[in-house]
Amino acid sequence: MDCTNAQNLLDAYVDGELEPLRNLEIEEHVHGCARCSQTYSDRQIIRRGLKTESLYFKAPADLQKRIEHSVRQAAKAEAPAGWFSGSWFKIAAPIAATALVVLMLVPYFHGLSSDELLTHEVVAGHIRSLMVNHLADVPSTNEHTVKPWFNGKLDFSPPVSDLAKQGFPLVGGRLDYLNNRPVAALVYQRDKHVINVFVWPSDNGAQTGGPVKTQQGYHVIRWSSSGMNFWVVSDLEQNQLAKFTDLLKSSTTTSAS
Ligand SMILES: [Zn+2]
Repeated sequence: MDCTNAQNLLDAYVDGELEPLRNLEIEEHVHGCARCSQTYSDRQIIRRGLKTESLYFKAPADLQKRIEHSVRQAAKAEAPAGWFSGSWFKIAAPIAATALVVLMLVPYFHGLSSDELLTHEVVAGHIRSLMVNHLADVPSTNEHTVKPWFNGKLDFSPPVSDLAKQGFPLVGGRLDYLNNRPVAALVYQRDKHVINVFVWPSDNGAQTGGPVKTQQGYHVIRWSSSGMNFWVVSDLEQNQLAKFTDLLKSSTTTSAS
């Protein structure tokens, strides 16, 4: 895939509208192209901006009726005068514009549960961290360096433990933004595979977990414990990632108690 193709397809890619094969081609290109990588980051920022609650509004139930009514009225008043003159356009254009925005936004949120949206975000965050050469704000294998680094940058203190002895060395930490809030991203490595662990406070204290999800070749495992949400994402083989998850779970439970 070349730059022109990639640039043309990036919007559809960000919106998850492409075939899996096309996704791979785009990812491969973006990975090695600074210009498209920058465009991709920009699109992600716009996409996140669109997801903020303040921009997301529900279409009023009577909107369709009002549009139909306005169009009928306008058609009666000015049948042969053409589209772009007179009252028809004045009345219908703003309503149509509003309807268009609603129609563009509604399918975006419709049909995807908040869990699925978050899975998309987590995978996108993982890919972005690999792509724009921004894996760690604090590159360190020392948990006693990484943990205090988050002080003052987040309103919570993420549990950080090095799992080097178990074969999953900590390589650093960074700030990220997920689920409409700043989160801690802890970066681990296994061979050449990067593991991102996103951590932020959970609303309920219950111990919960979800099934492993796989998206675009990345496995996502999530759970909540000790008042924190944990989302683990990597292209590491699934059994290995499950092992890592178990180690992380037991280490965070021990350090919290
Ligand atoms: Zn390119």
